[in-house]
Amino acid sequence: MGKVLIIGAGGVGTVVVHKVAQNHAVFTEIMLASRTKSKCDVIAADVKQRYGVNVATAQVDADNVAELIALFNDYKPELVINVALPYQDLTIMDACLATGVNYLDTANYEPKDEAHFEYSWQWAYQQRFKDAGLTAILGCGFDPGVTSVFTAYAAKHHFDEIQYLDIVDCNAGDHHKAFATNFNPEINIREVTQKGKYWENGQWVETEPHEIHKPLNYPEIGPKESYVIYHEELESLVKNFPTLKRARFWMTFGQEYLTHLRVIQNIGMARIDEVEYNGVKIVPIQFLKAVLPNPGDLGENYTGWTSIGCRISGIKDGKQKSYYIYNNCSHEAAFKETGTQGVSYTTGVPATIGALMFMTGQWRQPGVFNVEEFNPDPFLEQLGKQGLPWVELTDIDLEL
Ligand code: NDP
Repeated sequence: MGKVLIIGAGGVGTVVVHKVAQNHAVFTEIMLASRTKSKCDVIAADVKQRYGVNVATAQVDADNVAELIALFNDYKPELVINVALPYQDLTIMDACLATGVNYLDTANYEPKDEAHFEYSWQWAYQQRFKDAGLTAILGCGFDPGVTSVFTAYAAKHHFDEIQYLDIVDCNAGDHHKAFATNFNPEINIREVTQKGKYWENGQWVETEPHEIHKPLNYPEIGPKESYVIYHEELESLVKNFPTLKRARFWMTFGQEYLTHLRVIQNIGMARIDEVEYNGVKIVPIQFLKAVLPNPGDLGENYTGWTSIGCRISGIKDGKQKSYYIYNNCSHEAAFKETGTQGVSYTTGVPATIGALMFMTGQWRQPGVFNVEEFNPDPFLEQLGKQGLPWVELTDIDLEL
């Protein structure tokens, strides 16, 4: 049915290639391209052995629009799944426009020289994608992604008016390392060390990093200290659901993790500007990434669960209602199926489902869209089938 090009051979890219290959009836031709071709070849060989599906591979520097255009013109994909880094979003979107290819990603654009992410850069492509008759699907991982679809589903089926949204993200897994990040360390550390921010009564409220925290109970896991941080889906959700009086994002962190983060910051290793070392210019956070464990390799000894969901309250039939929708994912099960840990798995599965929604014509519309703008029903129909079953609870204590 469709020809797909995946860019980025990291943890998330690995899961996407597995899942796309498992849905070979829809994704009839598959290519994986990344900066390091040998990594693509290893993934392609594994997928060939497990499912008997061929995956073509290529080398590409996704910072270079001309290289991307040459690759797209040569392979002629219908859709590009961008699971490289947020820095490459705009170059890949430019190449899509130049060659008539549709686009999907899991993280919004972030400039390399500024630890700051927002949708404005990608929303600015709206008219050009519309005029070209092309679809761009933004933020189709778990969070953003599934959390945004969960919110849209709640608004459609469970509430007349959604008012309070708390996205709760718990990783109760143990990778048995003193310190490691679950996805790209550079992007992860930039995200969690910034100031906190949430939406309340029509405006953003800023906090110091990790200033607001409390223990929350996660299903099958128990209480975990959870911290309000700023997360990118809040920006589009408050725009697309204007009845929200408050929207916050909570993430669990262990004390060890926070202590390591503090030390990394205090000694300057989280710096994103260049410093000179022995006559060579290096960016400390990029050097740090080189010495930290590779998130893609954490899977083997990872035990425990992730639990991510939305706790929502609002009005239904004139009465106040509370609602919790979530998925729990086992790191061990993710590793068994794809050779990666749960965080890569919970990102790669939704990216594949978004691509499936596009290929089957259910999420296909000219322009640039966040996932909550599409029909949530067919996506959620697939979510359990593709490996991430979800649970709904109503009229419970949301603790928030
Ligand atoms: P990794 O660092 O493991 O993988 C990134 C891959 O992109 C690597 O293979 C890397 O190549 C490749 N790459 C980097 N720069 C370029 C470039 N210029 N040209 C071509 N390829 C390049 O990251 P993850 O797999 O953990 O994360 C992938 C994406 O998923 C990120 O954007 C991340 O923010 C997002 N994400 C989204 C989540 C969500 O829920 N929405 C959750 C987790 C992650 P090389 O191997 O040579 O380094």
